[in-house]
Amino acid sequence: MEKVYIETYGCSANQNNSEILAGILSRAGFLIVNSEELADVVIINSCVVKSKTESKIKRRIQDLKSKNLVLVCGCMPETDFKKIRKLNTRAIFLGTHHFKEVLNLLRDYQEKKLDEKKQLEYLKRTDEIKLNLPKLPKNNLVSIHQISEGCLGNCSYCKTKLAKGKLFSYPIKDIVKSITQDLESGAKEIWLTSQDNGCYGCDWDNKSHLPELLNEILTIKRNFKLRLGMINPNHVNEILKELLEIYKNPKMYKFLHIPIQSASNQILEHMHRKYKIEQVREIINKFQKDFPDIVIATDIIVGYPRELEEDQKKNLDFIREFKPDVFNLSKFSKHKGTELEKYSILAGKIIAKRASELMQAHKETAKENKQKYINKTIKVFVNEKISENLYRARDENYNIVVVKTSKEDLGKEIEVRIINFGVHNLIGEKTKVKSA
Ligand code: SF4
Repeated sequence: MEKVYIETYGCSANQNNSEILAGILSRAGFLIVNSEELADVVIINSCVVKSKTESKIKRRIQDLKSKNLVLVCGCMPETDFKKIRKLNTRAIFLGTHHFKEVLNLLRDYQEKKLDEKKQLEYLKRTDEIKLNLPKLPKNNLVSIHQISEGCLGNCSYCKTKLAKGKLFSYPIKDIVKSITQDLESGAKEIWLTSQDNGCYGCDWDNKSHLPELLNEILTIKRNFKLRLGMINPNHVNEILKELLEIYKNPKMYKFLHIPIQSASNQILEHMHRKYKIEQVREIINKFQKDFPDIVIATDIIVGYPRELEEDQKKNLDFIREFKPDVFNLSKFSKHKGTELEKYSILAGKIIAKRASELMQAHKETAKENKQKYINKTIKVFVNEKISENLYRARDENYNIVVVKTSKEDLGKEIEVRIINFGVHNLIGEKTKVKSA
């Protein structure tokens, strides 16, 4: 039996792609192993969002020269196929729109039919629905669902767009069927993910069908929690009223991931982000009014080529005003093939100074947010083992709560008293158990 090791980089969608690869391969008789040393085939499921990660992935592909077979998939084959092949001439490639064809690719390779023409077919842009497929979930309690591929944006800095291309939304009925199946197999938490959940269905009739999809999913007669992934502000605006109503459903985690990338309108305009920071303020204010403890997640790119000290001040003010609990900070990195390819980059020490200022502001404000939970008794859903008797749980706002308990509580809702906190989690002490 051939052994396969899968190494995954990037977003939840890519994590789900690896789960699908593992599902298809193990159903076909391959054994999925958890170390490269044991493997006959090493799969690198790549990401192109940050150039630092890209460099790391390229070094990995180069270092794997001695391996029997290296299969590179994800976004990098679509954007850097020729370059990567020079790093490892024996590698084979599966584009991000061809995950379902992994067995065909391996068969063509083994039958020595994978010539240049054939290889390029596995990189072509096509509409692939990654649903209702065999899967080996990383966590059986958490079911990740992609709802679309691509986006409607053309952000100046973005390389993902070059790989994922135009928006392709999956049919609502296929998504609901796939989620229902996973719930029947024991999943208790559903993650909806894509490059931009806000524009779901806009490729059908230019309007977002996200509320319709959420309502369909929330009518599934099962006990579960739903986490909605990132939505760009420009699409939230058009469905804000409906979203606020939908978030009242107890199945919805009160979690809003709204990447701003910058709090300065002059930078947002240069990025082609299609919204103004005032619109973001209005959205977050409305969510925080209806759901005072909602967890806000956001993303900022620091060191954008046009960024001035006054723009940095706006970013800091935004963090201090909205105190996001989850903060994804990226240092600007230039990507070939994007609009900013020829721009000069700000000095490294300026970017480093601004990054540490933003991270410091985030740490301070995220802790401030968590102060209110001390001595509170809350219900949490235990969804992941960390170590022997330490488990990760989530409260209704999707805060991470670390609690000492036993495996009997995995997949259950328990009550804990909050005794301490860190920047990114609460520490809970178990009070009593209630079965889910
Ligand atoms: S919305 Fe912008 S940043 Fe996001 S994937 Fe599309 S082009 Fe890239």
